[in-house]
Amino acid sequence: MKAVSLLSGGLDSTLATKMIKEMGLDVIALNFTSPFCQCGGKQKDGCKHKAVEMAEQIGVELKMINPAAEFIEVVKNPKHGYGSGANPCIDCRILKFKLAKKYMEEIGASFIITGEVLGQRPMSQNSRALKIIETESGLDGLILRPLCAGVMEPSIPEQKGWIDRSKLRSIEGRSRGAQLDMVEEFKILNHACPAGGCLLTDKHFAAKVMDLIASGMFDVDNSRLFVFGRYFKVSKKFKLAVGRNAQENAVIKNFAAKGDLVIEAGSKGPTALGRGELNDDNRGLAMKIVAHYCRKEEPQEVRYSVYGAEEGSAHTDSIEEIDPSAFVAEDYKRR
Ligand code: SF4
Repeated sequence: MKAVSLLSGGLDSTLATKMIKEMGLDVIALNFTSPFCQCGGKQKDGCKHKAVEMAEQIGVELKMINPAAEFIEVVKNPKHGYGSGANPCIDCRILKFKLAKKYMEEIGASFIITGEVLGQRPMSQNSRALKIIETESGLDGLILRPLCAGVMEPSIPEQKGWIDRSKLRSIEGRSRGAQLDMVEEFKILNHACPAGGCLLTDKHFAAKVMDLIASGMFDVDNSRLFVFGRYFKVSKKFKLAVGRNAQENAVIKNFAAKGDLVIEAGSKGPTALGRGELNDDNRGLAMKIVAHYCRKEEPQEVRYSVYGAEEGSAHTDSIEEIDPSAFVAEDYKRR
């Protein structure tokens, strides 16, 4: 008997996967990444790394999927709405389960395992949401939640005797005590702290996303670029990312593509990248915003170029500085 387990690398999904593996089933782990996970390249100890580490530790094969284009469509237009930010958790889970179902069928597995706990997350782990997700992903009865199965209707794997229901847990709610007790029982080493959701749950980040969506500029490339730096809506169709440190400056510059405005302010100032409808007004405003973030002690040369075309330069003392807060996306102003 083969099962697919959704392994984020967090404690709950690691425990759920290990529980079923220890029952003697062949478990293959599946991990989803997105431009908004707080993991992988953005954080050394993030969940991408953790999923790999945890899969190795508990001895399961791991497949990683990044459904970026499908995810962007879900964020733009979620049937079940957003949570506290721009996080479409129910639709996001439906997408992941649909993809997991496809993979399950491809490899001849019989059901899906998750580390979900009833009542743990307000938007996507209440009983109504769990039911909607299961039905709309075409997996009615085929999702086994080993940590909370005891407080739910028996799933098909339990009904058919593939899994011994008496060995499943009855954890409910937001407390993590029961899972922490299980760490020792299942000998999980170096487990991750509970994750607080992806970047889309952050209200300030959500303001950028909503602005990009409203401008018709929310796509895979822009979702990756505008994760970095300070974000400015220079105009409806022209957005600017301004690096906050040397690392972000380098990353932002690497995103430059044909037609982008690249602004570099010497070794002491930020690097910025403007994208969208480039005209003299937008370029002028972008230069003034960048000038605001340059050190004031000595004038610096600010170079600008349109990637692959025209170049120019000016000194900070010849650029009229403006208050950038007028170009900050709504809630993002509070940062
Ligand atoms: S927090 Fe982000 S990744 Fe997690 S379910 Fe919600 S939208 Fe999806």
